[in-house]
Amino acid sequence: MSRKQKKNLIRIILAALLLAICWLLPTKGLLRLLTFLVPYLLVGYDVLLKAGRNILHGQVFDEQFLMAVATLGAFVLGEYPEGVAVMLFYQVGEWFQSVAVGKSRRSIAALMDIRPDTATVLREGRECIVEPDQVQPGEIILIRAGERIPLDGEIIEGNTSVNTAALTGESLPVDKAAGENVVSGTVNLTGLIKVKVQSIYDESTVARVLRLMEESATKKARVESFITRFARVYTPCVVACALLLFLVPPLLFRQSFAEWGRRALVFLVVSCPCALVVSVPLSFFGGIGGASRQGILVKGSNYMEGLSRVDTCVFDKTGTLTRGEFAVAAVHASNDDEREMLDIAAALESFSSHPIAESIVRAHASHLDKSRLSAVTEKAGEGITAMLDGQLLAVGNGRLMDSLGIAWKECHIAGTAVHIAKGSQYLGHVVVSDVVKPEAAEAIRQLKDLGVTRTVMLTGDREEVAVQVQKTTGVDLYRAQLLPQDKVTEVEKLLEDGHTLAFAGDGINDAPALSRADLGIAMGAMGSDAAIEAADVVLMDDKLTLLAKAISIARRTMAIVRQNIIFAIGVKVLVMLLGALGYADMWIAVFADVGVLILAILNAMRTLKQ
Ligand code: ADP
Ligand code: MG
Repeated sequence: MSRKQKKNLIRIILAALLLAICWLLPTKGLLRLLTFLVPYLLVGYDVLLKAGRNILHGQVFDEQFLMAVATLGAFVLGEYPEGVAVMLFYQVGEWFQSVAVGKSRRSIAALMDIRPDTATVLREGRECIVEPDQVQPGEIILIRAGERIPLDGEIIEGNTSVNTAALTGESLPVDKAAGENVVSGTVNLTGLIKVKVQSIYDESTVARVLRLMEESATKKARVESFITRFARVYTPCVVACALLLFLVPPLLFRQSFAEWGRRALVFLVVSCPCALVVSVPLSFFGGIGGASRQGILVKGSNYMEGLSRVDTCVFDKTGTLTRGEFAVAAVHASNDDEREMLDIAAALESFSSHPIAESIVRAHASHLDKSRLSAVTEKAGEGITAMLDGQLLAVGNGRLMDSLGIAWKECHIAGTAVHIAKGSQYLGHVVVSDVVKPEAAEAIRQLKDLGVTRTVMLTGDREEVAVQVQKTTGVDLYRAQLLPQDKVTEVEKLLEDGHTLAFAGDGINDAPALSRADLGIAMGAMGSDAAIEAADVVLMDDKLTLLAKAISIARRTMAIVRQNIIFAIGVKVLVMLLGALGYADMWIAVFADVGVLILAILNAMRTLKQ
C-alpha cells in the first residue's frame, strides 16, 4: 500500500467514526447540519475541489460532478447521513480501485523486474560499474553468479546456467557455455562469465520488451474505446434525465419537490459509470500482465480481443513447426571436388542468417577467402549468389538453379537439398534436414480443441518435406514452394470470408506475412529483434503450446470483460428504474454503486491469475 493509500484509508475510517458519532448526537437544526458537515468535508473535500476545478475547465460531466451534485443535493434535502455516506462509499470504491490498479501494475513491474541497474564492464583491465546504456558493442562485461545479465552478447569465457523465467515463463535453467549467446534480462545462476556485448542497451532484448509493454497501454481494444466514448455521452444524458425527474412531476403534476429531488439524486448516484470505466481497462491490463508472466507479450488490448477470436492458425514451417536447427544429412558432389563445393557453400552461406545457412557454416569451415567475393545477394526463399573472379557462384534450391539455367539433380535423401553451382557448372548438393518440434502435434491438437477450425502450414521448402511435416504435426493444410511474397498471397486468400487469422512465424523472412495477418505472432523471440518489432503478439519461448495458452488467456480475459459490462449495466439499470419509481432510497443506490464497482474490480483482478 502506498503512503497516499494509507492516508486515504485513515481518512475513510475517521470519517466513518465521525459519521456514527454525529448520528448518535441528539442535535437539531443548524447544529445538526454543522456536525454532519465535518465528516462530509473530511471525506469529500477533494472530490468537491476536483468537481469545481473541472467545471472551471469546462469539463462538467464527470464522476466527481455526479458525486458532488448528489451529495450536496442530499444536504439540501436535509438528508445529512445519506449525503455523507454516499461520499464515504464513493471514496471506499476509489480506494479499492487504486489498490487494484497498483496491484496489477506491480505484477507487471514484477515481470518487468528485468531492467538491469548496472553493468560491470572491463576497461583497461579494470572493472568499472556503469549504467547499461554506457556500454558499447564489442566491450567485455563481467557477470557474476546471481546477477542479472544487463546486455545481449556472446559468452567468451566461463560457463553457467541462466534462468530465463522473467522473459519466457520457463523456470528450467538453461546451460550456457563459451560461444553461446546470452540475453539481457535473464539471470546468471551459477558461474562467472565474461560476455562480449553485441548491441547497445537501447536495442537489447530487455529494452525492447520494456518498450513494448509500455506501449501496450496505448493500443485499446474496441470495447475499451467504446466504453470511454459511451461514458462521455452517457453522463450528460443521465444528468439531463435526473433534472427532468426532479422538475417535471412537481411542475406538471404538483408533486413534492423534496420527493422527486430525492428520486433524482438516487438516480444520479446509481448512474455513475465508474464500474465500467474502471474495470474494463483493468481487466485487459490484468490479462496482458498475466500473459506476460507466461512469456506471452501482447502488444495491446486490441490484440487480446483479436486473439480470443482466432479461427485460423497459419504456421511458417522452418523454425516454427520445426526446430529450425538443420543438420547436414548428406553431401553429394557431382565431380570429385567435394572440398571446393563445400568451400563455396560455406563461404556464401556465411552471409546469410537463414537456419539452413547456419547449419552449413557450422558443418564446414570454408577455405575460401571471403574478401574475394563480391556482389553477394540473398534471394529470399531461394538462396544466395555472389561473384568470384568474374564467375557467378550460386547456393540454393532448385528454383534458384532453374532461374540461372543450371541443370541440377534431384536427391533421394529426405530433407532439403541445397544445390551449389559455379558459373554454368553444377557442382552438387548438400542435404540438410530439420526436425519437427516434439510438442508440435500436441500444440495443433490443443488449438483444435479450442475450436480453431483451420491450421495451415506455409513453406518455401519442397512438397516432400511439407508432406512429411504435415504427417507428423497433423496440420489440416499445407502450401509448399512458396516465396515470401507468395506467403502473403496465401494469407490473404485465407483471410477471405471474414476469418480471424493468426500467423505464427519466427520473423526470418516472414515479416510481410506477420504484418498482413490479423495477428502476427512471433515465436521464440528471445534475442531476435526483428520479430519483436514486426509482430502483434510475441512468444518469448519457441514452445508451440504457448499459442493455445495465449488464445485461452485472451478468451478468459474477454469473458471477464463481458461479465463486468453486463453485470454493471444490468444492476445499474435496475436500480435506476427502482430509484425513479421511488422504490430505492439513497442507501440502496450507494450500495449498488460501490458494490458493483468493487465486484467488477475483484472480477477484473482474476485476469491477473492466468
Ligand atoms: P520456410 O518457409 O520453410 O521458412 P524459407 O522461405 O525460409 O523457408 O526458405 C525456402 C527455401 O529457400 C528453403 O527451403 C531453401 O531451399 C531455400 N533457401 C532460402 N534461403 C537459403 C539459403 N540461405 N541457403 C540455401 N537455401 C536457402
Ligand atoms: Mg522461415
